[in-house]
Amino acid sequence: MAQFQPNQPNGQHKCEHCGAIYDVRWHQAPMRDHDSANCGCCGKAMANWNATRYPTFDLVGECPDDKDVKFL
Ligand SMILES: [Zn+2]
Repeated sequence: MAQFQPNQPNGQHKCEHCGAIYDVRWHQAPMRDHDSANCGCCGKAMANWNATRYPTFDLVGECPDDKDVKFL
């Protein structure tokens, strides 16, 4: 799983399990946030962070494999 760094710029993240592409945007958190995100396509954990900023993920396009779509 990718360990996200808090100084990582906005950009794109690719799920290492299924290859889904996400737009990543960082937001300021009121306090240190230690959390992780699961892929909306394959459901597997794809990123974690421990920082005073947290990322949100927006799927770009469609899931690479639509036979097993699992939206959170
Ligand atoms: Zn995935």
